[in-house]
Amino acid sequence: MLLAEKHLKYCLITYGCQMNDADSEALAGELSARGWQRAEQEQEADLVLVNTCVVRRSAEQRALGRVWQLAPLKHKRPKMIVGIVGCLAQKDGEALLEEMPHVDLVVGTRALPGIPVLLEELRHTRRRLVSVDGMDRPVVFDAEPLRENRIKAMVTIIYGCNNDCSYCIVPQTRGREWSRRADDIVAEVARLAKRGWREVTLLGQNVNSYNDGCCDFPDLLRRIASETGIERIRYVTSHPKDLSDRLIETVAGAASICENFHVPAQAGSDRILERMSRGYGRGDYLRLVERIRRAIPDAAITTDLMVGFPGETDDEFAQTLDLARAVRWDSAFMYMYSVRDGTPAAQLPDDVPIEVKKRRLQQLIKLQEKISAEINEQLTGSRQEVLVEGLSRRSAEKLMGRTRGDKVVVFAGSPELIGQTVRVMITAASAYTLFGELRNSG
Ligand code: SAM
Ligand code: SF4
Repeated sequence: MLLAEKHLKYCLITYGCQMNDADSEALAGELSARGWQRAEQEQEADLVLVNTCVVRRSAEQRALGRVWQLAPLKHKRPKMIVGIVGCLAQKDGEALLEEMPHVDLVVGTRALPGIPVLLEELRHTRRRLVSVDGMDRPVVFDAEPLRENRIKAMVTIIYGCNNDCSYCIVPQTRGREWSRRADDIVAEVARLAKRGWREVTLLGQNVNSYNDGCCDFPDLLRRIASETGIERIRYVTSHPKDLSDRLIETVAGAASICENFHVPAQAGSDRILERMSRGYGRGDYLRLVERIRRAIPDAAITTDLMVGFPGETDDEFAQTLDLARAVRWDSAFMYMYSVRDGTPAAQLPDDVPIEVKKRRLQQLIKLQEKISAEINEQLTGSRQEVLVEGLSRRSAEKLMGRTRGDKVVVFAGSPELIGQTVRVMITAASAYTLFGELRNSG
C-alpha cells in the first residue's frame, strides 16, 4: 500500500453496459488495494472518475454532461482529480483535455489497469495525463474487483471485439479481442462461490469467440460448471453467427448453466443485415432459434433490435416486426439507430427521419411488450426456481428475485431469504414482471 494514499477517497460514476460496470468494479478493487476509500459523495472525494459509454450519441452526451457538472466542484476544490475513463476517453483522448479544463486524466479502455501508476504520477507532477494506447494489449488487473452485489457477480472473460458491424463504435473503443486465461477465470469463479456468491455472469462483446489457446467458450463453461461449485452461470453476449451446437449442448447438459440465450438479431431484413455486416441472414437466425428450442424447449431467448438503420424502408422495418412475431423473444432491448463517426455506416446517409425512427421504435416496443406479456402469462401456474436478490423496489414487504430465464419475480417472503434459491408458484404476470407465492416445499 502506498502510504500517501491511505486516507484518500474516490468516487466512481459509471455509464453504459455491464462491461463498464465490471471495469468500474475492477478499478475500485485496484484503488482499494492501495488504500483508497470509497467516498460517500463526490463533494468529499479526492478523485472522481467518470466511466463513459459512447455506443449511441445520447449515451455520449449523458456522460459528457456529467463530466461538465463536476466543473464547479473542481473550481472549489482544485486538488480534486477529475478523470474521464472508458469508451469516451478512448474515442476522443487528448481533445477532452483541450475542451474541458477541469479534467486532469483521460484513460482509455485498455489502459485502465495502469490507473494507480498514472495517479501517482499526476499527484507528484500535477501534469494532466492521457493514456489511450495499446488497443490489442491484455487487460490484467492486480487486485480482485470490489463488488457491491454480494449475490451475483460479473466476470469479464474476453475484452474487445473483432467483428465489424457497420454501425458499431465498440471495436474502435474497446480494441481487438483478448481472452483471459481460463485457469484464472475458473479460479476467480471458485473463489466467488466459496465466499458466498450464488451466480456469475460471464461478460464479453461476443463470448462465443472466447479462446485462450487451450479452451474455447463451451470448454470454459464446462470447466466453470464442474470445477467451481457456483450455483448459477449466465453469459452475455452471443453473436448469432458464432453460437455453436456445442454451446447449446453444453447449456443443455449442465444444471448450473441457465437456459437463457441473449442473441441480438438487430433487424429482420436480409438487405439491412447485410448492410449492417452482421454475417447472418434472417433464415440463419430463425434456424438458430429452432436449434436452441429443439435442444432446450423452455429456453428463454432475448435480443437487441435496432430501427432506422440507413436506408431502412417501411417494408424492411415490417420484416423486423415479422421476425419478432416469428421468434417470440422473451424480451428485447430496442434502440433507434444513432450515427457514430468513424464507423462504416457513418458513410451512409442517415436518411430515416427522427419522427419515423421514433414511430418505428414505439411500434416495435408495443409488439414486443404484447409478446413478452403473452409468454409470461403462460408461466402462471408454473413453479419457478428463483434466486432472491433483495427487497422489491415497489414494496418493502415483498422480495424480488430472478428465474433461470432471468425474469423478475416479485413475491411475499422474509428478508432472510435474500441470497437463497427458492421455489415460487407464479400467480400473475405482466410484460416485465412475474408475481408469485413462495412454495418452498412439496
Ligand atoms: N456485442 C453485443 C452484440 O453484438 O450484440 C452488444 C454490443 S452493443 C454495446 C449493444 C447494442 O447496442 C447492440 O446490440 C445494438 O443493438 C446497439 N447499438 C450498437 N451500436 C448502435 C448504434 N450506432 N445505434 C444504435 N444502437 C446501437
Ligand atoms: Fe459491436 Fe458487432 Fe462487436 Fe457487438 S459484435 S460489439 S455490435 S461490432
